[in-house]
Amino acid sequence: MMASLYLYPQTSDHLQQIPDQLITCLEQLKLIGQSLDHKAWYIGDDFMRHIVFMGCSPYLKIAPESAKDQDFCHIQLQFYPSARLLMGENTRPPCCPHCHKPNPKILQSYQNQAIIIEQEECQFCQASAPLKTYAWKQKAGISRLFIKIPHIFPQEAIPSELLLKTLKKSTQLDWDYFYLHH
Ligand SMILES: [Zn+2]
Repeated sequence: MMASLYLYPQTSDHLQQIPDQLITCLEQLKLIGQSLDHKAWYIGDDFMRHIVFMGCSPYLKIAPESAKDQDFCHIQLQFYPSARLLMGENTRPPCCPHCHKPNPKILQSYQNQAIIIEQEECQFCQASAPLKTYAWKQKAGISRLFIKIPHIFPQEAIPSELLLKTLKKSTQLDWDYFYLHH
């Protein structure tokens, strides 16, 4: 099984492209190192300062074994022209922001569709709320823009407070994170 950590801005609907200052910021932090292609990089020298591992000496695979190997720790930027809900095998029904009940219907309805319906009605309390205000509990995320870091399992590592703060300062956006198994 593969797993990835994703970082994303909570508000992204106004973004038309990957902000230039984001890449500059990641370079200055040395989170990213040498480029793999125009939207992917090897990890940088200070990666382990910004992505904090819980174990004492994590094994990090930092280079591909073959040209097609994507299952190694590196950094990718993903941008979509409209917001996407990214889900994985670990994603659970999100909880309604009003009655806090998990909503399996929403999860099912997005299994095969990428287009986000902004308002979703709760099947229990009938309150209508934006999809992103449902509690996804770090097992899915909605945005146009994602920083994907493959080869990190849930709870194995978390972004440092400094990283989230610096991303906020450089992009003027609030950042959050989640993990996917795929
Ligand atoms: Zn509800």
